[in-house]
Amino acid sequence: MRLVLLGPPGAGKGTLAALLKESLELVHISTGDMLREEIKKETATGRAAKKFIEKGELVPDEFVIRLIEKKLTSDKRVAQGYLLDGFPRTRKQAEDLDRILRQIQQPLDYVLYMESTLPVIIQRLGGRRVCKNCGALYHLHNKPSKKEKVCDLCGGEVYQRADDNEATIRTRMDVYLKSTRPVIDYYKVQGKLKKLDGDKDSEEVQVALMQIFHEDHKLNKH
Ligand code: AMP
Repeated sequence: MRLVLLGPPGAGKGTLAALLKESLELVHISTGDMLREEIKKETATGRAAKKFIEKGELVPDEFVIRLIEKKLTSDKRVAQGYLLDGFPRTRKQAEDLDRILRQIQQPLDYVLYMESTLPVIIQRLGGRRVCKNCGALYHLHNKPSKKEKVCDLCGGEVYQRADDNEATIRTRMDVYLKSTRPVIDYYKVQGKLKKLDGDKDSEEVQVALMQIFHEDHKLNKH
């Protein structure tokens, strides 16, 4: 199955992605993770992206589109199905994604829109912690790691993302409303959009989603 996850920062996209990756054996493709990897490796893309990410602004389209195009056309694992998390974030990205998918003749199955409210988003992002090594997600209060700052899964360092502070979260919300909301209408017109309640626990959201896949007879094929 080929899925896109849309929604404001903190709507639970990453957590749902981790669950779906496991249950449907999908490749999880997160442009945020890819960009953070480029920054870590100090590539030209990483250097260009860093200042936008730190401010909570979007990295220019051409950088992320290039990363996604390369991934979808050259990584053989994507044939098993994938989940795009954090991409597309602008109408231009959505149009270019359609162009790439037309070329490789692999249309999307669904665009999952996780709707969430501001108080829930701020609570989630303010307490969010991430493993630097494997990307596992934690929350200071809702889901702390067993040992402080140490990942339960791989022993890596659990840290707070630099852009998970209140001022940057507000900028990211503004950017979302201005640039990413129009992407929802873009997919609504295509009839691909499924709306999910991002304020709920990810497990509950997953159950609702599996019901949709089941009703649409999507569960036995990739
Ligand atoms: P995320 O991990 O999805 O919250 O993304 C973290 C940051 O990476 C965002 O605030 C943007 O600065 C940048 N970013 C991630 N994905 C995209 C994208 N599709 N377009 C532009 N910037 C992006």
